Amino acid sequence: MRAMAVTAYGEPLEAIDVDEPRLRPGFALLEVLTCGVCFSDVKTSRGKMPYSESLQLPHIPGHEICGRVIETDPAGAIPTGTTVVAYHIWPCRRCERCRAGYDNLCTNPVSWTGFTNPGGFRDRLVVPLDRLTVVPDNIDPVQAAPLTCALGTAYRAVVTRGEVAAGTTAVIIGLGGVGIHALQIARATGARVVGLDVSQPSIDAALDLDLDARASNDDVLDAIVRDRSVDGVDVVIDCVGREETLVQADRLVRPGGRVVAVGYSITSSFSLPTPRFVLEEIELIGSRYVLMDELERAIRLVADGHVRMVVDKGRPLEDVNDAIADLEAGNVIGRTVIDVAGVA
Ligand SMILES: [Zn+2]
Ligand SMILES: [Zn+2]
Repeated sequence: MRAMAVTAYGEPLEAIDVDEPRLRPGFALLEVLTCGVCFSDVKTSRGKMPYSESLQLPHIPGHEICGRVIETDPAGAIPTGTTVVAYHIWPCRRCERCRAGYDNLCTNPVSWTGFTNPGGFRDRLVVPLDRLTVVPDNIDPVQAAPLTCALGTAYRAVVTRGEVAAGTTAVIIGLGGVGIHALQIARATGARVVGLDVSQPSIDAALDLDLDARASNDDVLDAIVRDRSVDGVDVVIDCVGREETLVQADRLVRPGGRVVAVGYSITSSFSLPTPRFVLEEIELIGSRYVLMDELERAIRLVADGHVRMVVDKGRPLEDVNDAIADLEAGNVIGRTVIDVAGVA
């Protein structure tokens, strides 16, 4: 069957032929319908992930997987034809973090699908039954691909880690795949929320959804702080993770407030920007991926119309290099999706 794989870092992904996956007990065989392309895939294909040196090539990336169930073992565990999304960390269930219920922080995963293990840029794969979430009928497969990562990651950062809620104020920095959904989720909680980005097309995409989105410059930052009755906003969600965005977060957050770091740039060396983090008890909180139950609540927000999936386009598997190049050049609104099975 077809797959697109990294064969050499920095080179375009190449079409390769791989063996059919074999169904085994506790798994589902999926036809991959669509697969989102995330900035992690850019970093993986360019050899810029922490694990890149030890990764065996060729490697098939792709972790935002939407598929259709072909068969399960035991038979009928999920009906054939059901559309599902796959949670990309298959936890060991034995480590201390797994035992505490944090699948997202498993220290010894069976598979980190699409990252250190083969991912979804291929026709079929097998996934453990308990890593699958059924996609509601009113979300099509192109919209569904980024549910697990772009939407789920945004949900955990905003709701669980950020504790953004009605009556609070929040700023989302970076309106890419995670940020544009984080902004909508924050609004759905009833919080007053502003999104910031440097890219006008991303700002326009947020404005089209009737969100408050602005260009991130000094005047705008000052205006946001002035606009609040306290000295800054309650929560800042940094979806970019560069030194300059952490500095912006420091300028925006009120004393006693909270900065949630979701994005991370592997080139920047983080240092806390100011003594405020101690003297004004600012909390700096990391947020990684999502838990399965959070994901299901996030998907419900989409199914119920509170959040709209922002997807740039679906394109054929052979065109994955164009998707990666677009993402690298900053030419993607929301997420871009590979239409592996040609469903669109
Ligand atoms: Zn992703
Ligand atoms: Zn574990």
